[in-house]
Amino acid sequence: ITILGFESSCDETGVALVTCSPGQVPVLRAHALYSQVQMHQAYGGVVPELASRDHVRRALPLAREVLAKAGAELAEVDIVAYTQGPGLAGALLVGAGVASALGAALGKPTLGVHHLEGHLLSPFLSADPPEFPFVALLVSGGHTQLMRVDGVGQYGLLGETIDDAAGEAFDKSAKLLGLGYPGGPALSRLAQQGDDQAFDLPRPLLHQPNLDFSFAGLKTAVMIALRKLGPVPSEQQKADLAASTEAAIVEVLVRKSLRALKESGLQRLVVAGGVGANSRLRRDLNAVAMRRGLRVHYPELELCTDNGAMIAMAAAMRLQAGLARPNCDYRFEVRPRWELGAA
Ligand code: ATP
Ligand code: MG
Ligand code: FE
Repeated sequence: ITILGFESSCDETGVALVTCSPGQVPVLRAHALYSQVQMHQAYGGVVPELASRDHVRRALPLAREVLAKAGAELAEVDIVAYTQGPGLAGALLVGAGVASALGAALGKPTLGVHHLEGHLLSPFLSADPPEFPFVALLVSGGHTQLMRVDGVGQYGLLGETIDDAAGEAFDKSAKLLGLGYPGGPALSRLAQQGDDQAFDLPRPLLHQPNLDFSFAGLKTAVMIALRKLGPVPSEQQKADLAASTEAAIVEVLVRKSLRALKESGLQRLVVAGGVGANSRLRRDLNAVAMRRGLRVHYPELELCTDNGAMIAMAAAMRLQAGLARPNCDYRFEVRPRWELGAA
C-alpha cells in the first residue's frame, strides 16, 4: 500500500510518500518540507492566517516534488493521509481540504492522522527503530508528556506539563534573550559557549513524586536573572544564561524520564518532538542510559520537528495494526484540540 501524507498543523508544510507491506516496517520513499519560519519571524511567532494561506501555496508543489523524488506516479497512491489535529484550525483545514480533494480526484480514500501520534511514531523511521513496549518522552512546541506505549494506538498518559511545554520554555527564554523565533535551536547554539552553572535556575516539580512538569516559572526566573544583569548584558552573560536555562530544562526532562522508566519497569525510552533534536538532551540521556543499561531511541534529526514523513508513517502503522478507518466520502473535519488516546 502506498500512502501520500500531508502535514499542515502549524508553520511547516510537509508531504511524504510511504509504502507498506503486511508485517514489514513501512518504508519512506521520499519527503519534502517547506518551513514558514522566515515569514513568521517578523512577527515573533506564528500568525495563524498567514500560515493557512501559505499552506495553500505549498501543498501541491511539495506533493509533486515528493512524487518526482520517489519516481512515483500519482496513480500509485492508495491512501491520502493528512494531519487532522491538534493544531491551528485554519492550517489543519488546508491540509485536510487538499488531501480530501486529491483523494476524491483519484478515487482513493483519505485518512486523518493525530499529529502527536506522528511525532510519537517518527523514531520508527530512524536507522535504529524501537520495539514495543516503551516509555515515550514527547517534547514539542505545544506538548510535554510521558507516555507508556504498548503498541500502535495503545498510549497511556503517565504525566504531562501543567503549564508551558518544554519547547515553549526554550522559545520563551530565547525570546527574552533576544534570539528570535523559534528560539530553541538558537538558544541551544548559544548555550554551547556558556557556563551552565552560572545561574541557579529552578527545576520545577523535580522532586515531586509524580511525572508532571512545569516550565512557566523558569521563564520568569530567566526574566529576573536578565533584569539583574542590567540593560546591556554581555554576550558571555547571555551565553551563560542560555546554558543554565538549557541545563534546567534538560535535567527535569531526563530525571522524569528515568522515573517513568523505573515506575513502569521498562528499559526502553523513545524521545519524540522538536526538543528531541536538542543535543544536550541527547547527550545527557545517552550518558545515563549507558550507565544504567537502558536503550534510548530518537527520530532522525530532520524528523524531530514537524514533517510529512511522520504523518504518512503513522497512517501506515495504524493501517497495519488494523486501527485505521479510511474515509471514502471525502467529508472532513479537523480537530484543533485533540488528546492522544481519545479516539
Ligand atoms: P506540537 O507538536 O506540540 O503541536 P510543534 O509542532 O510546534 O508543537 P515541534 O515541531 O515538534 O512542535 O517542535 C518545535 C519546538 O521544538 C520548538 O519549540 C523549538 O524551539 C523546539 N526545538 C527544535 N529544535 C530544538 C533544539 N535543538 N533544542 C531545543 N529546542 C528545539
Ligand atoms: Mg514549527
Ligand atoms: Fe509538532
